[in-house]
Amino acid sequence: MNNSTLTKNPGPSGFIQIGETEFIIVDYGQVIKDGLVIGKIYDDGFMQVKGNTIGNHRNNFFIDLISNLSFRGQDSFGLSLELPEKIKAPSGDLYYDGKLFKVVNGRICSSEHNYLGIFDDLGDIYLRCPKSRRNSVKLDENSLLNFKFTGQHHDGEKFNYDYTKTLNRPNRSYIENEIIRYFEDYDSLTSIQKKYVNENLTLWAACGILQTVRKSEGNCAFGDIRHGASGVTGVRTGNVTLDKGEFETEIKLFFHEGPLCNLMVLSNPNHIETRVNMVVSHEFGHQLEFVLNQKAQNRIAELYKTRFEKSQKLFPYPSGYDGRSEIITRNQFQDRIFYSGYSKQSSEEFFAESIAAFSVEKTRLDLKTFDFELYSLIEQIVTDSSQMLRSVLSDSINDLQLSLSIADIYKENLI
Ligand SMILES: [Zn+2]
Repeated sequence: MNNSTLTKNPGPSGFIQIGETEFIIVDYGQVIKDGLVIGKIYDDGFMQVKGNTIGNHRNNFFIDLISNLSFRGQDSFGLSLELPEKIKAPSGDLYYDGKLFKVVNGRICSSEHNYLGIFDDLGDIYLRCPKSRRNSVKLDENSLLNFKFTGQHHDGEKFNYDYTKTLNRPNRSYIENEIIRYFEDYDSLTSIQKKYVNENLTLWAACGILQTVRKSEGNCAFGDIRHGASGVTGVRTGNVTLDKGEFETEIKLFFHEGPLCNLMVLSNPNHIETRVNMVVSHEFGHQLEFVLNQKAQNRIAELYKTRFEKSQKLFPYPSGYDGRSEIITRNQFQDRIFYSGYSKQSSEEFFAESIAAFSVEKTRLDLKTFDFELYSLIEQIVTDSSQMLRSVLSDSINDLQLSLSIADIYKENLI
């Protein structure tokens, strides 16, 4: 993810021009005059120099403060950089999904003095994207998060600007809003039910995939399901329907047993079925598979096939069992092939169960040692989403994740 590189901010390289004729070399942020380091300049134009060395009595200031000072070169990431920007733009405080940034003549500056992009007089935001080497990615209704700006225009006139995403609640975070939008009856849930839904979906909201899947496939709601299943995902509609009674059972199992447990098989009492107790992210997993590109889908089918064949060889269905899950005896638990027994049902269930297991830390770490190949595939969906999703979604997921990384939602330690 690109946030680790953002916090590593060695500073820009190029030169500072003073007036018409004087030039000072800048090397990775070090300001060098007559062979001596006299100070530091950051990507966002913040400078720390020894008093009076560049004709200014202050030690800490933004480059804009001195009228005959400018910088030209590249920022820490090799993107071209000219400071100050030659635009007339506002200055003030920007709260982006609640996170505070300083805006200096339009430049959005982080507390580490990274230069993130431009906030202009119209209230539009353009971000710099080191990953795709774009200097100016305009955020739109897909990629913008809720924000609030207080400050003034370049001419000093007061300028306050609020942006709330369509159907979002202004006082809630992006992750909360996305979960509320996805889970139709969220407001009517008890606090323990909400906690369960949040556990299932927070990771997928944070990487922007929940929003992408919801827009492409649909949301999730309670409804009537015929054959006693916990949930179904409509192949035609893309919507998820959850059974309320079964939802309660899943929640009880989750909070009493944890995300993974073993249940006795009724028809074969000396056998167990390992179970992932995450119905919301399981059904979400079915929706997610629909938005993956063909290559990723083929890879899933391939992983499933090799595991199914192995499981059939080692753990064939015992007599008296008419299901399709992988069932084992208690002492075979460590040797099982599928992380959950239900994964053996089909390639689709295998993927949905894997997404469910990946959703919370406990089973995610467990899955990493249990089946690294499978873990890596899902990790790639989170960290390299544009390569895994359908190509029509690449740009929108890239821009959304750029926006989320600025707000520290899509971040390095997410998984
Ligand atoms: Zn399923």
